[in-house]
Amino acid sequence: MSADPAGPNQPKGQPGLVPAALSGLCPRCGAKTLFAAPAALADECGTCGLDFLALERGGRFVGVVTMLAALVLILAALAVDEWLRPPLWASFAFWLPVTIATVIGGLRFYKAMWVYHQYEERQT
Ligand SMILES: [Zn+2]
Repeated sequence: MSADPAGPNQPKGQPGLVPAALSGLCPRCGAKTLFAAPAALADECGTCGLDFLALERGGRFVGVVTMLAALVLILAALAVDEWLRPPLWASFAFWLPVTIATVIGGLRFYKAMWVYHQYEERQT
């Protein structure tokens, strides 16, 4: 049990979802504190103390999002392979960073979306 550190609501400080997901902005104070690692949420906001872990609880579809992203990429890779017939090393050189970037980006967006959704639910 930790005391709720909520101060007065500051709707003016609320960032939009897309920039928030891209740069990992806190839903309450807008500081870049949402992510501790490229695709991992921080425990709490280092600026306003908002508890991200409590907000993230229940976000259980992360694995599904990752699998869907991987599936789409594999299909795209097969299509390109069929079309251009690139050498194997070229396929790896291209798809490895694309896959990593897509999965990390998808996770970031998904987690940010989830935390923002939870945060807004708690405001009511
Ligand atoms: Zn904050």
